[in-house]
Order: sequence, then C-alpha cells, then structure tokens
Amino acid sequence: MNVNDTEVIFSILEKAGYERTEVLEEADLVMANTCSVRDNAEQRIWGRIEVFNQARKKRPGMAVGIVGCMAERLKDKLLETRKVDLVVGPDAYRSLPRLLEALSPDSPQIDVLLSREETYADITPVRTDKKGISAFISIMRGCNNVCSYCVVPYTRGAERSRDPHSIVREACDVFQKGYKEVTLLGQNVDSYLWKSETETVNFAALLAMVAAVSPDLRVRFATSHPKDISDEVLQTMASTPNICRHIHLPVQSGSTRMLEKMRRKYSREWYLERVAKIRSLMPDCGLTTDVIAGFCSETEEDHRETLSLMEEVGFDWAFMFAYSERPGTLAARNYPDDVPQEVKTRRLNEIIGLQNRKSLERYRAQIGKRLTVLVEGPSKRNPDQLCGRASNNMMCVFPAAGQKAGDYAHILVTDCTSATLIGQGVQ
Ligand code: SAH
Ligand code: SF4
Repeated sequence: MNVNDTEVIFSILEKAGYERTEVLEEADLVMANTCSVRDNAEQRIWGRIEVFNQARKKRPGMAVGIVGCMAERLKDKLLETRKVDLVVGPDAYRSLPRLLEALSPDSPQIDVLLSREETYADITPVRTDKKGISAFISIMRGCNNVCSYCVVPYTRGAERSRDPHSIVREACDVFQKGYKEVTLLGQNVDSYLWKSETETVNFAALLAMVAAVSPDLRVRFATSHPKDISDEVLQTMASTPNICRHIHLPVQSGSTRMLEKMRRKYSREWYLERVAKIRSLMPDCGLTTDVIAGFCSETEEDHRETLSLMEEVGFDWAFMFAYSERPGTLAARNYPDDVPQEVKTRRLNEIIGLQNRKSLERYRAQIGKRLTVLVEGPSKRNPDQLCGRASNNMMCVFPAAGQKAGDYAHILVTDCTSATLIGQGVQ
C-alpha cells in the first residue's frame, strides 16, 4: 500500500517539476512515507526522523516531510517537535506542490484532510520497482470496517473504490511496458464496488476485467476479508488461469470470542468454511494469513484455539504480531490491554514455531509437482540460479537455462526449505 502511495507522490511531484534523488545529502526535501498499524512501525519512523533531522542541521534549507498514516494520526503534533517541516495525510498528496511552494523554515505546512472521493484514479504512478516485472495497482482506498484493534480507518478514512476503467488502463499500460504481473491492492478488496449510472462493477467483475488484459499478465490481489470473500470471486479465480492461485486471508484469531471482540464479523466456523470452499474449488490454492497474539483479555484457551485453527488449516505462510494498542481505536477506548508483555511474547513465539513447522509441511507437499514460475531474476544467494514465484506465491529457485526476468519457466520441484521451493527446469 505504501509503495503504491510513494509512486503516486513521485508522479505528482515529477509533474510539478521536482526531481528524485536517492542520495540524502543531495536532497532539498526528504519525505518518510509512514505506517501506524503497530507501535514499533512508528518507533522506527521516529528513528528515521532523527537521522533526517541531523542531515537537515548540516544542510540548512533542507526540509523534512512526513506523509501517510502517521501524518494523519499525529497531525500538528509532528510539527511541534520542530524536527518536521511538512505533514501530509494520505488523501492530500495532490496538495504537495502547493504546500512545497509555501514552505519555508518559518512556515511549516500541513494538510491532513481526509476525503470521501480521492482515489488518485487519474494519476499514473511512477514505478519504483527496479525489476520491471511486477506492479502494484491500488483499486480502492480507506476502510469501512471497524476492527477494534485497528487504526487504519482513522488514518486512511472511509472506503472508496476507484473507477474500474482507470484500473484496467493502468494494467494495460504496465503490461505494454513489459510488466508480467499486477497486484490489485485494497484493505478489503472483496468489498470493492463501483457504480455509475450504467454500470455496477464488483470485485469478481473487476478481477475478470483485469485478467482479460492478456493471458500473459498474472493477476494477484490483497487483502481479502473472510467475511466478504464471495463464491463469485472464488469461481472467477477458479475459471481464469492467469488469476494467481493465492489468497491472503487474515484470520487474526482462532477463537470466536476474540473475533467478536475484535469486531471481525465472522466466527471460527465461518472462517473454516471459507477455507474449505477455497480448497474445494482450487485444491492448489496458496493460503496465507495474519495472526494477532495477546489481544485484550485473551486466555490460554483462546490462544490454543488460534493454534488449533492454524494446525487445521495449514497456512503456507503468516504474518504474526503481538497485539499493540493503538490510541483512539475502539479497543484502546473500551478494553484494557491486559495480557502481560511476556505472555504476548510467549504466545507469539508458539504461533511462530507452529507456523514454521506448517510452512515446511506445505512446501514439502509441493515436491514432485510441476509449477510455472514467473522469473524475477538471478537468485540472491546463487547468481547461476534464477528465482521467481509460482502461481501459489511460493518463491522458487532453479538453475538458469537461458531464461531471463519476465519469462515463464516450467519447473519440477525437487526439494525445499520452509520458505523456498528448489526445482529443475522441465519442458
Ligand atoms: N486490511 C487488512 C490488514 C490491515 S493491517 C485486514 O483486514 O486484514 C495488517 C495486519 O496488521 C492486520 O491483518 C493485523 O494482523 C495487524 N494489525 C493491525 N492492527 C494491529 C494492532 N493494533 N496490533 C497488532 N497487529 C495489528
Ligand atoms: Fe483494519 Fe479491519 Fe480495515 Fe483491515 S479490515 S484495515 S484490520 S479495520
């Protein structure tokens, strides 16, 4: 999400005549695009702000900007630190040229207005991915859910969907430039809905439209919400070979009591039913998730339910977090953050340990299979080998046989680790 926002910002600034540099000492303006989802993400940003502030002291006239979620969350409190000159929220990037015009050491600038309409639909992002194989396309912004632990609805505003024709145009454009994969991005892609007087396009229809750009263009998407992922979406995936067989389906907890308290609006049983449906339609579908350990009032029994759900589903991979209270959220206002830090850490470690074992099982189950891999380039560890992802999103490494980045290679999986498949080229 943030990579895509950065690309939108580059595009707006390039149009206004600004040039990009990756050398801090050369920059007249340095901006940090920020995330507020967990406290440690914000702590890292504070570290960066300090580094930028030191650079600013050595180079008078240089400005420091904070954009994105942390700008939205902390607003003018950031200016009060005097370490920051410019604060711009996620819906205000179009104001950047105007704000930069007005910016001076005595006149810091801020725009953190959220919008009900802004989708940056007409802005062609300046791609920052150097490989030129895989592009992110934002299909919607904001979120209308109120998961009680989550700060996103407050920092990124209400949900709005982008005009599907501008999305298809962007996919065509990157495909013509040589990209072979697009990932459609939104906080809850399944609730994508665009209506005009003559047309209604839901997420399943959008997926089909983007997949029709070319059978050689792979389509991925994230993030799916268990309460909203529909049979129609699953059927569209199952019947369209270039929509990748991978779903990121954050479960957060295996305990229905916790899920209710998190306001996720599904139960353990509902989640397991969705997984069963996915697997019945697409037995080869990759499945990954997000899990939170130690949410307010979580008991050992709740925690064991998370472990047992993970055992039962067998995710390929997971992002796993200890609960981090975010100011202003429903949970922060209503529930004490009462699971001691050492208990959170122990539970998180148990979750990670289980997932590592499951990942290895899931990767091992691929041995003997033939997969089609989109080549990303030489493997980092061994430049004689190539790497790339299979449709199910698993990273594969195999000996180069004349293919280059952007080609599709066919491999037979012969070995694996818990995060990589190792293969041999086949015809
Ligand atoms: N929209 C997506 C993900 C948004 S944030 C969804 O609904 O799943 C990405 C992940 O960060 C979440 O899935 C959740 O696991 C984690 N997360 C969000 N808020 C958190 C918090 N306060 N503490 C710990 N993890 C959190
Ligand atoms: Fe946050 Fe829930 Fe929205 Fe995801 S769906 S961004 S977790 S409020």
